[in-house]
Amino acid sequence: MGELLGLRCLTCGRDYDAWSVDYFCPHCGPVAGALTVEYEYRVLARRLGPASFADTRRNSLWRYDSLLPVSGEYAVPLRAGGTPIYDCPILAKELGLGRLWVKDESQHPTASCKDRGTAVAVAAARMLEREAVCCASTGNAATSLAGFAAAAGFPCFIFVPKNAPRAKIAQLLAFGATVFAVDGTYDQASSLALRAAEKFGWYNRSDGLNPMVVEGNKTAALEVWEELHGEVPDFALVAVGDGSVIGGICKGFLELGKVGLSGKVPKVYGVQAQGAAAVAHAFARFQDGRPILPAEERAETLADSIRVGKPMDALRAVRAVAETGGGYVTVSDEEIVAGAQELARRVGVFAEPSGAAPFAGLLRLLREGTVPEGARVVLFITGSGLKDPEGALRGLPEPTVIPPQLEAVDEVLGER
Ligand SMILES: *Cc1c(COP(=O)(O)O)cnc(C)c1O
Ligand SMILES: [Zn+2]
Repeated sequence: MGELLGLRCLTCGRDYDAWSVDYFCPHCGPVAGALTVEYEYRVLARRLGPASFADTRRNSLWRYDSLLPVSGEYAVPLRAGGTPIYDCPILAKELGLGRLWVKDESQHPTASCKDRGTAVAVAAARMLEREAVCCASTGNAATSLAGFAAAAGFPCFIFVPKNAPRAKIAQLLAFGATVFAVDGTYDQASSLALRAAEKFGWYNRSDGLNPMVVEGNKTAALEVWEELHGEVPDFALVAVGDGSVIGGICKGFLELGKVGLSGKVPKVYGVQAQGAAAVAHAFARFQDGRPILPAEERAETLADSIRVGKPMDALRAVRAVAETGGGYVTVSDEEIVAGAQELARRVGVFAEPSGAAPFAGLLRLLREGTVPEGARVVLFITGSGLKDPEGALRGLPEPTVIPPQLEAVDEVLGER
């Protein structure tokens, strides 16, 4: 377990002893009072070397437990972390990039990046001897929590918008969670979960609320650093809804510097849908010296995992990205769909629309010249296409129906 120092409020800077509060700074309240986990970085710098993580021989995020708030002894058996990274030299060349890597976060037990944050939050719940867990989610955080709660033997209470993709609902029900399909938006489900958790004493894994989730999320960056043998990329791109995933990824890259393991931090870019771009707008306000925290905005996109109008982790997502020298980019739904198809065809990674958004974002940043020729780029692909088959089928032709005869195959091939 890490040299845990405590929790710090992102707004007022007050420090709290580790485990003395669960979610947010009592002075600043939810969202504004988001907390970040602090460690004794100088002690860790003396203790950690480039081979420290490999020495654990663990092929999961518990490999990094010297930089985590909870010991791996509280982990459930489901694996989180240890996802593959793919080198894409041909595509890189075509795009004029020096290198292109795809970090396939869909390769998790519940098929999204959310399993990282969940693994750490559920381990914390076990350590704290909580009896039940809950979360609000656009879908993936919920299915992730339901899976890990099943492995932990926790009752699990889920709040999702009732229009979440059917495959995600199927996962929730299969894992035995109690599912509240809220007749409203994700943002409404979010505040309902907050109130219910308080009333019934459930441990709340919701993004932007639980600082443990960010600690799990950051391990994706630690893996990239290790998998590339310390050769940190120039740019890292990831889709953004609430902002917890990107906040974690930035924290991971930045902490590698704080403990002296890496001298370089990639510019991290958040990718949002044009119709649901509250964090990108907050980033623009921040650059103009105006307050970050947004009012609720409209949220319309087919990319359901990033359909967020009132981001719960905007402060972190804006400041952390600024600290890496990165920024935000928005893309249309058409670009997201095209990006998902190209990613599937060219790399063999089948992503849900939100998961593929970074590919669309990369094409835009290349056109704008923000990502220069020869740059080395990693894309975090956050969720599987199997999560939303309807979304994946958009814009794809129907298969050709034929009688069970070889001539029919001949005929179809002849027509092409
Ligand atoms: C949750 C999620 C995101 C975005 O993460 P936030 O923490 O909400 O910003 C992106 N893609 C997928 C597939 C997700 O499930
Ligand atoms: Zn505070």
